[in-house]
Formats: sequence, C-alpha cells, structure tokens
Amino acid sequence: MFKILTITLMCLLTVSGAYASGLQAVTLVDVQGQSDTGLLVGASDEQAAKYYPDGKMPSQILAFWVNGVLYDAGLRDGHIVSELAENGIAASEVSTILITHLHPDHFGGLLDSEGRASFPKADVFVSKPEYDYWVNELKNENVITALAQYRVSTFMFGDEVIPGVRAMDTSGHTPGHVSYLVEADGEKLIVAGDIMHFPEIQLPVPDVAVRYDVDPVKAVQSRKFILDYAAWKNIPIAGMHITPPGIISVKKSGTGYEKF
Ligand SMILES: [Zn+2]
Repeated sequence: MFKILTITLMCLLTVSGAYASGLQAVTLVDVQGQSDTGLLVGASDEQAAKYYPDGKMPSQILAFWVNGVLYDAGLRDGHIVSELAENGIAASEVSTILITHLHPDHFGGLLDSEGRASFPKADVFVSKPEYDYWVNELKNENVITALAQYRVSTFMFGDEVIPGVRAMDTSGHTPGHVSYLVEADGEKLIVAGDIMHFPEIQLPVPDVAVRYDVDPVKAVQSRKFILDYAAWKNIPIAGMHITPPGIISVKKSGTGYEKF
C-alpha cells in the first residue's frame, strides 16, 4: 500500500513527456495510528473540535526514498528495511541517508534489533546545528549510539548536501531541523520532515504548534516559510507525518493554506 508514488506521475498531470526523467519518490510507511488533540499548542478548543470532532488526530511516521536516497529511517527497527524490500531495494543498496532531524521517529530505524546498522553501507548526513544539539549539548545516548554505527557527515543550512539536494533552514521543531530541496531534470520536491505534524489543522491554521516543538515560535515561522515557498514555486512537499502517500501540493487560502 502506498508503496510507489512517482513525482513524475504527479507531474504527468501538467507536464507531458516528463515520465522518463526527473524525480521518483517512494513512500515508506513505518507507523499509522492516532494522536490526541492535547498535543496541539495554540489551538482553541473550538479549533481543535472543528478539525478533529472526536478529539483524535490521524498520525503516521513515514520515510521517503527519492532517486536512490533515503530520507529519514523511521522509528522501528526493520520496518523501513521491509518497506524498501517490498519495492525491490535491499538495505545493503542504501548508500546515502539524509536525516531531517534527530527525533527517534526519524533515526530509530537506523539500528536493527541487535543494535547494528540497518543500512551497513550507508553514509548518514545530519545538519551541524542538529548534531551539535543532540550529541554535544544534550549528549543524548540514543542518538550517539545510533550514529556511532555509521560514517556521519555534517553540513550547514544552505549547503548542497549531495548533488541536486540543498538543505533549507527549517529550524524550530528542533534547532537543526532541515528540509531538503531535491531537484532533478527541472523537477523539484521538498522533503520537509516535521514542518507539520497534523496538516488537517496546521495548513488552515499554521500558527498551531505541537508539544514536541523545541522552539514553537520558530517552528511556526519555518512552517510558513516552507508553505509560502512551496505555494509560490508550486513545488510538492513530502512530509514525514502527512497521511500517506505523504506528498502534497499546497496553495494559499485565507490566512492559511490548503492542499490541492
Ligand atoms: Zn517526527
């Protein structure tokens, strides 16, 4: 389910003849469930009830495989490995993993149940501010243990991390949270990590934050920045917590945004 969604396929709707080139994205589903509206910050009871009448919010953890690069690794050991395998991609073929940020639902799948690298031949890329926050400032043991199994490279906001992939500063949710602007043959996609967690409310009311935003004010600013940019440039957004397939196009609508 939701295994393959090609950006080229989406672009076929508007761009003819683009099928053989460009971007191919595979949505990898780790977890699907529900969260409680108590996680929302800055939403009135009326707003929460408007978008989630029963108080339950759809919740999921995704990763993406885009043109031979893995974006995040999910939470649970083995799940992203299985999802890749179902698409004919062996874990040993994964050579590059770009991490949006170092929350467990994004790096947990780097290790297998034995604590070894799930992707033994992969280089892992993390933004320098994110690495410094979790490894040097917080000295987070889970992060340090997971990254120790890999060759890790750091980069700065704005850098071209690998050819065709640029890191956009979307800090706030965490201090070094990045979104990746991916481009191939003129087609673009923003792999936006946790730019939003609950799009049903955070698109129309982007000022709503979540409890696990390290800096909620900055997280709101980054959300609006990415949504403005994506709407202006008409670039699809892939989000790790958007309902599968997890890739949407957005446009401005009133004081917020809507998907189309
Ligand atoms: Zn997350």
